[in-house]
Amino acid sequence: MHEADCTHSDAKRKFDILEFVLLPEWKIERFRYHLKCLSCGGVAFYRKQSIDGKDACFGSRYHATGCNAERSSRHFTIDVANSIEVDKAIKQTNEFILSFNDFEDEEKLSDEARVKKVISEKATTGTTTKTSSSSKKTTLSSLSLDRILSSLIRGKSLVESDVIIRIGDFPYKAKNLFVNFEDAHPENNAKDAKPKMYWGTISFANKEISWLNPQECKNMGIPITKFSEKLIKKYSINDRWDLHGAAIILFGKCYWNKDKDRKIIEVWDNDINKIYLSMATV
Ligand SMILES: [Zn+2]
Repeated sequence: MHEADCTHSDAKRKFDILEFVLLPEWKIERFRYHLKCLSCGGVAFYRKQSIDGKDACFGSRYHATGCNAERSSRHFTIDVANSIEVDKAIKQTNEFILSFNDFEDEEKLSDEARVKKVISEKATTGTTTKTSSSSKKTTLSSLSLDRILSSLIRGKSLVESDVIIRIGDFPYKAKNLFVNFEDAHPENNAKDAKPKMYWGTISFANKEISWLNPQECKNMGIPITKFSEKLIKKYSINDRWDLHGAAIILFGKCYWNKDKDRKIIEVWDNDINKIYLSMATV
């Protein structure tokens, strides 16, 4: 997006991206937590020009359904297709296994082909189609992190659902499991914190890419030091600005730091498979 609304009290106005990049660094830092999509008011982010030449831009993962600004982004169709799949799955089954593995049980369709298939199915039937094979399954179906994240970003189906999600041996009700960063309640220390699936978007990473900072909560950090190198490789991150606006979901725990002024979200066992990023394409 080339334009965004700023809602900060020091600058309640519309910004063009070319104008925004010329602001002093401290103003950018102040305003970029207060950006909204011009068309639908969805929370937006600012992405600096990247080293490999991607232009600075605004973007959003929280467009309202039908927002014009959203239709131009590539992750729109993927998110829509993923969330249709999740809606369909939770209507058919009451219990799932959460799959942390890299979508190994997927059909071998490319993302593009899969997205086309899901969307055209939805368009032809108007509703979700029933597949007879799934009702006969004796083993539990699995839901992968990419599908779940898209569904969370696009709607409330999972957040309000009683469907059971199994993580290892533990069953969780979906509505108790998924927590946006904004709603995370920290425990006083790491030991007391129970695991949940936290999700939202990334505002920025620090210089060393050892911390991720959510857009939805300013005094919160996600330490990734222990697997930072692997993460950089896995997601082909060229510099820390690539992470701006990425949607993220992770299994982890939330607790206060020692000074009780910053919430920490720690990835469970510091296991890279317990975190999933959906990089922003704008
Ligand atoms: Zn929008």
